[in-house]
Amino acid sequence: MAQVLRGVRPYGEEPVDIVVADGVITELAPAGSGTGDIIDSDGLVALPGFVDLHTHLREPGREDAETVLTGSRAAALGGFTCVHAMANTNPVADTAGVVEQVWRLGQVAGLVDVRPVGAVTVGLGGERMAELGAMAHSAAEVRVFSDDGKCVHDAVLMRRALEYVKAFDGVVAQHAQEPRLTENAQMNEGELSGRLGLAGWPAVAEEAIIARDVLLAQHVGSRLHVCHVSTAGSVEVIRWAKARGVPVTAEVTPHHLILTEDLVTSYDPIFKVNPPLRTAEDVAALREALADGTIDAIATDHAPHPHEDKDCEWAAAAMGMLGLETAFSVAMATMVEPGLLSWRALADRMSVRPARIGRVTTQGHDLVVGAVANIVVVDPSASRTITPTALASKSRNTPYEGMELPGRVVHTLFAGTPTVLDGSLA
Ligand SMILES: [Zn+2]
Repeated sequence: MAQVLRGVRPYGEEPVDIVVADGVITELAPAGSGTGDIIDSDGLVALPGFVDLHTHLREPGREDAETVLTGSRAAALGGFTCVHAMANTNPVADTAGVVEQVWRLGQVAGLVDVRPVGAVTVGLGGERMAELGAMAHSAAEVRVFSDDGKCVHDAVLMRRALEYVKAFDGVVAQHAQEPRLTENAQMNEGELSGRLGLAGWPAVAEEAIIARDVLLAQHVGSRLHVCHVSTAGSVEVIRWAKARGVPVTAEVTPHHLILTEDLVTSYDPIFKVNPPLRTAEDVAALREALADGTIDAIATDHAPHPHEDKDCEWAAAAMGMLGLETAFSVAMATMVEPGLLSWRALADRMSVRPARIGRVTTQGHDLVVGAVANIVVVDPSASRTITPTALASKSRNTPYEGMELPGRVVHTLFAGTPTVLDGSLA
């Protein structure tokens, strides 16, 4: 039976009926003329399903914070049809066995493509390279490798990993944090960290690693991806590298597009994240870089933590915040409403480019006949107040509690099957 997204506006353009059958878009028919199961989408905006390059699903090991199933639910409700599950689980995803386990859990949940990220080094230890080839050739077909949470700081190891992943068109996604410059770091280093008496995380600790890595990527001719870029200086380094033809891509998180370090004055650990919230100047530079394409993608860095890991004093609290269910609204508030990104450009940054970076061939398709029907339908005129208890994630650590944000995900189709209808799991 065909499904019909009736009267929907692809990329905000003229209304049509998008007809979906057997998992693909079979027709873009005049509005009101498509036949099949009608999904009312009158006046809503259709985009290709979002692809997240950076998601912590916590399984195996921290199922009290999130599971592949609960994280998949949060993803579908956020309009995602694909997430990349970070490797810092317990056990670490550093073998074919663990990545296949995560991949299978994703298949069983069946709500989004769960693409496991493989660790670069054994146990994220930063000393010995993990079995990258075995993970690439496993059923999980890993293409993205990252020690996220930790930086691959050893230059020789980083070089070897970059060289190695070329064999299967992989990419190393670096968590850029020079460890010695950030020992015990608690927040952005600056005037405010001095005043609050919290150890600083200086911008140079991120920028120095990115500068080294783009030069390494150029030297060996390998693809490098920079995780969660957070400073204006990092943007400048990436812009310089791209102008020189270095095969580097980069992502920014929703929270680094909207929140600033001033929130730390509350000492509320809900705002504790790594890399830390930065200054308003950094936020402006990140928005500009996402708009001009220097930064390729929005990636959530969705980092669920149970109550006890966040409800404690600042220094003891875990780093990270939820992101899947609020990413679209933050992107709308920071990029679409101010006119920095069109709907088509937003689709590029949240679907097309991240799919390409992760080499996910079934995702990030334009909304055309023959494309795999991974589709999100959003209501740009809606707004909502964020309530942590209303989120599908197993954790509650959203920094947006009580904030009113624009936009709402109404329907999500994953490979032609509705996973979300009218804002609820189908
Ligand atoms: Zn990270």
